[in-house]
Amino acid sequence: MLNFTVGPVMCSEEVCAVGGEQIPYFRTPEFSELMKENERLFLKYAHAPEGSRAAFMTNSSTGSMEAAVMNCFTEADKVLVIDGGSFGHRFAELCRIHGVPYETLPLRCGQALSEERLYEYDGRGFTGLLVNIDETSTGVLYDAEMIGGFCRQNRLFYVCDCVSSFLADRFDMAHCGADVMITGSQKALACPPGISVIILAPSAVERVTSRTVKSMYFNLADVLRNMERGQTPFTPAVGILRQINARLREIEAAGGAEAEIARVAAQARDFREKIKDLPFELVAESPANGVTSLHPLNADAYEIFTYLKDNCGIWVCPNGGDMKSRVFRVGHIGHLTHEDNTVLVEALEDMQEKGLL
Ligand SMILES: *Cc1c(COP(=O)(O)O)cnc(C)c1O
Repeated sequence: MLNFTVGPVMCSEEVCAVGGEQIPYFRTPEFSELMKENERLFLKYAHAPEGSRAAFMTNSSTGSMEAAVMNCFTEADKVLVIDGGSFGHRFAELCRIHGVPYETLPLRCGQALSEERLYEYDGRGFTGLLVNIDETSTGVLYDAEMIGGFCRQNRLFYVCDCVSSFLADRFDMAHCGADVMITGSQKALACPPGISVIILAPSAVERVTSRTVKSMYFNLADVLRNMERGQTPFTPAVGILRQINARLREIEAAGGAEAEIARVAAQARDFREKIKDLPFELVAESPANGVTSLHPLNADAYEIFTYLKDNCGIWVCPNGGDMKSRVFRVGHIGHLTHEDNTVLVEALEDMQEKGLL
């Protein structure tokens, strides 16, 4: 199997090996130490400001998006949601469900967010901003620094969903001024799904610990209190946290976050170069490193996905909803090489020869 989706992705042999081990009991000093090491490396890789904390959540990253909305905003807020695809819609939907007043800044599929467009919302009484830095459904990367400047100027509480961009695109939490950043285990971190991480800057720690939230499981103040001793309030996905530890150590040994980001960027560049002569149109105006969204000019996108899966053992990522026939995606995150890109491109060339592309 060759997996080019955007999550779950291919894991390294070491991460797979840890996944095959028995699961230890976790209320121990040894597990606490592992959790502390995980926290330290996440904060370092995110360039989190001094005094930031990490919350390890046993839920998919949508759970963490929901926890962020519930713990950081109330009906007294007015939140701006950058909405350029299905993950933007998701933040808007979460605001609606939790009664947080919001407005969306809608973008066309694949459209970049320009400074002019964002500043149309300047001085309009917003209190917070929600954005998916890589809108994974289209592969558009938003400029976290530019948005951060807007948030600073408007004094907005700034929440960045970096689920698919963490370790794939440069992100400096301290520099862009994000209060919260969210990521997950099954994207560029290249571990199995099950754990999501919320990094809270001191401003966010202050906010969540001084408020009450109507939830037991999504109570971030409780999560942070437990994390002071390297623990979680409830049983976490212990096995995946151990795999994450192995993976973070692997990244550390290979040169840290910058080296990993450069590797993913090179993987994306190599692929985009190799498909230059194929009948595809690139969807994203400002493409993220983690994924390339493609619009096939002569074929149905979903049929390409099905053909590669059924005939070649290769998984690309289909799109849902109204993009199902028009767009499919190729991921560059996870344990993939340039040779793997060649295998995929040769399969696509073979489809073209057969008149399927
Ligand atoms: C994958 C992803 C999520 C969360 O997906 P889950 O299925 O809940 O893990 C959220 N935001 C973005 C940008 C993503 O790519």
